[in-house]
Amino acid sequence: MKGKISDKALEFDKKNLWHPYTSMTAPLPVYAAAGAQGVYIDLEDGRRLVDGMSSWWCAVHGYNHPALNRAVRRQLRRMSHVMFGGLTHRPAIELGRRLVGLMPEGLDRIFYCDSGSVAVEVAAKMALQYMQATGQSRRVQLATVCGGYHGDTWQAMSVCDPVGGMHSLYAGRLPVHHFAPRPQVSFGAEWDPRDFEPMAALLAAHHSTIAAVIVEPVVQGAGGMWFYHPVYLRLLREYTSKYGILLIADEIATGFMRTGKMFACQWAGVVPDIMCIGKALTGGYMSFAATVTTPRVAEGIGSSPPGVFMHGPTFMGNPLACAVACASLDLLESSDYGRRIPQIESALHRLLAPASSIDGVRDVRVLGAIGVVEMERQVDVAQVQRMLVERGVWVRPFGRLIYIMPPYIITDRELEQLCGAIVEVISRP
Ligand code: PMP
Repeated sequence: MKGKISDKALEFDKKNLWHPYTSMTAPLPVYAAAGAQGVYIDLEDGRRLVDGMSSWWCAVHGYNHPALNRAVRRQLRRMSHVMFGGLTHRPAIELGRRLVGLMPEGLDRIFYCDSGSVAVEVAAKMALQYMQATGQSRRVQLATVCGGYHGDTWQAMSVCDPVGGMHSLYAGRLPVHHFAPRPQVSFGAEWDPRDFEPMAALLAAHHSTIAAVIVEPVVQGAGGMWFYHPVYLRLLREYTSKYGILLIADEIATGFMRTGKMFACQWAGVVPDIMCIGKALTGGYMSFAATVTTPRVAEGIGSSPPGVFMHGPTFMGNPLACAVACASLDLLESSDYGRRIPQIESALHRLLAPASSIDGVRDVRVLGAIGVVEMERQVDVAQVQRMLVERGVWVRPFGRLIYIMPPYIITDRELEQLCGAIVEVISRP
């Protein structure tokens, strides 16, 4: 397979294919992947990299997993896809049953969709339609905290961090929502009640026009890899309930044990009214997501004309995705991740600790299978990534952050290689 991709092919990629968050005129370098197996990504040039990213939080069981491959192949023999409008099928029902069993109590009405961003759009539409249908039509806005990330589609973008997100690019065109400051008290620190005061004040002032509050529970991911105190989330649940506002938990990145709990909401013991899941739902095999809500919200939406929820993507309930998601849930349930993730967490603490004393490092933090090195300054992505690849690891920094969330199957030795490479690269003057 060595050298299989020609220079011409790579030239085509550079000229014609958009990669995520990159320029078409001055694109960042890309590396050609030939295959992926377990915790490794194999490059076309023969190099083998320990994967520190789980391909953006999703490949939690590693790549090319025999059980997941089997599930896809088995389903492929029956049907890869049929429309969900007017038809149903075993994989969708089976996955639904499994999810109802897994979700926090009360979340049992499931809307399958295509991707995380769409799951967030669906959640926002559910909240707005619920308010409309239940005679609360003044409630048309969302509230959230700064530093969040919820996806790249329109409604999702409008609740991303207003400074670091894409608001300035689309100023005047995005829906206007309410933002409280980013929660300040970190996970594991002593709780300070003043942290919730701005959100309490925001809700007190604007509750009559707010349909829902949306947050990433406990871990703010792509908006800055920040871990905040679960009491903040608990208070958010109390206040939203008090004002009759819906609480949307975006568990797209945190769900399926990434933080050490099945869902990050469980750190605070709260049940949201709407939960978005995606990414690891299919073990990283394909794009798929779901927006899950309570009977109250679903019945509210159905209670007045048009009585139907107005969303229905072409690939809704895709059988291949449902089948592989069931197999991924089997692995989650039969694995010893419950024991392994705390071990990964301690290894990350130990192995990233030396970074704290390196010049230019602002903070090192770890939660579950997530490790973050926050630098003082913007990271030169192309340069740092090249140095990491030279050391046999795959990490994709952004902003001031070099962070990892490896597949749960990673061994201690591979973690040592991953963290060792990061520490070595940032130690260089
Ligand atoms: N919400 C969160 C918390 C995410 O981390 C992401 C993706 N990074 C999304 C939503 C959007 O998901 P997708 O990229 O599948 O649209």
